[in-house]
Amino acid sequence: MFADEILVGGRWRRGGGEVLETRDPATGEVLARLHGAGVADVDEAVRAGAAAAADPAWRDLLPHERARCLVRIADLIAERADDIAALQTADTGKSINETRALVASAQGTFRYFAAALETLEGALTPSRGPYLTMSVHEPVGVVGAITPWNSPIASDAQKVAPALAAGNAVVLKPAEWTPLVSLALGRLITDAGLPPGLLSVLPGPGRIIGDAIVRHPGVGKVSFTGGTTTGRAIGAAAAEKIMPVSLELGGKSPTIVFPDADREQALAGLLFGVFSSSGQSCIAGSRAFVHASIYEEVVGELVRRAGRLRIGPGTDPATQVAPMVAHAHRDKVAAMVDRARDEGARVRCGGRTPDGEAYARGAYYLPTILDGVPNSAAICQEEVFGPVLVALPFEDEEDLVAQANDTVYGLACGVWTGDYRTAWRVARRIDAGTVWVNTYKQFSISTPFGGFKDSGLGREKGREGIFAYMRQKSVYWGMDEQQPYSQQWGAQST
Ligand code: NAD
Repeated sequence: MFADEILVGGRWRRGGGEVLETRDPATGEVLARLHGAGVADVDEAVRAGAAAAADPAWRDLLPHERARCLVRIADLIAERADDIAALQTADTGKSINETRALVASAQGTFRYFAAALETLEGALTPSRGPYLTMSVHEPVGVVGAITPWNSPIASDAQKVAPALAAGNAVVLKPAEWTPLVSLALGRLITDAGLPPGLLSVLPGPGRIIGDAIVRHPGVGKVSFTGGTTTGRAIGAAAAEKIMPVSLELGGKSPTIVFPDADREQALAGLLFGVFSSSGQSCIAGSRAFVHASIYEEVVGELVRRAGRLRIGPGTDPATQVAPMVAHAHRDKVAAMVDRARDEGARVRCGGRTPDGEAYARGAYYLPTILDGVPNSAAICQEEVFGPVLVALPFEDEEDLVAQANDTVYGLACGVWTGDYRTAWRVARRIDAGTVWVNTYKQFSISTPFGGFKDSGLGREKGREGIFAYMRQKSVYWGMDEQQPYSQQWGAQST
């Protein structure tokens, strides 16, 4: 069903690396086997990318002309939206509603960066002498984009669109478990007529292919989304090369309910925040801090509603909690819950796989709520990346802020309160790159995104997002015959 081909430097061909197997997590069936990239493919892709980026056919395109390429890609994503969403549901297990939304978001990302590119400006800076000074931005050349498995089309687009908009070539490495959507994006971008060589798609093991991309001397920037441990290793390798990196990493985000919150809004936000995507989201609101005065009432209701969530295959539009990306990942999540249980956590709901023939073959795990452990417990400190919520009571704002910030992560936070002053104070005191007030997990491509602390470095999205893929250059133009050094260093009379 799938051609055993990857995109290397403008050519579709069999990869030179090991065979990757990708399965449908709803059934466990093999979707595709394909040869991933080998290290020689990385070298070929980077060289071809460098040549394509330096070719006047791409390098000299005016911004509005380059923007047209991005719009063509967006149009093709729109045309193939149903197929891409279905493919992503098969490859990641995610529900079809979610993958449709991710495809729409990817399309919007290409359109947004096309528009941003057309309006990108350099600067004439205030001169300090008889010269004109300006600051311009230029592409870095070849960008390495390394993405995780949870939302491939959206995370790929968030890197590929601004990197191309900036005038670069891109070498994209999808995660081992989910290569198919990135390859489909590669096909689509080829069909959109992007000059060959500007995009390579190299599935393969991170420790070999990802590492080879990061260390390749021809790669001038790496944009990475994934786990914090991997991000730290990539950051260290980048430091050796003195190469800029953007790191979008993990999280353990607090969601907070004050007594004056709209109860319905808070309950819906908490459930959606942690159980959508089966919790496999960097911004999952995985620690719920509920004021002690309403704790039992709110947590009891969360438990009731979590028990009623519809669990099923991602292909069913009624599904709320779909299978996890892979059986191995589901087992890792289950082991973390078991360890929490051993350490004294109370399992308020879930904590196991669902019963019934319909779930027997899929990588399912029930929406799980735990409590009875302090914020210092491993289950409150480590990223689970699954449908697991830990509930914690808080006494007052000081106690809340101390607990919520007591984590190595700083990606996101949700606050539910009826008082805008409380919301503002708390939003400013929580160490997180994004705070949602009376809503959660909503995104706009025009708003920068990124983490504090171990959750990352740099920002994606927003108009400034293009600059992450550019180098800044200053140009001084001497405008007078007489320059400050002219008298001492000018023409000597003979
Ligand atoms: P991961 O770190 O294991 O892998 C991410 C990517 O890095 C994959 O393509 C992998 O092959 C590659 N990789 C692994 N080792 C590498 C190495 N040594 N050098 C170069 N590349 C390497 O993460 P994952 O399990 O695929 O994804 C889950 C993680 O991603 C979670 O921690 C989650 O929080 C994080 N994430 C963060 C964001 C964000 O925007 N902050 C978004 C989604 C996911």
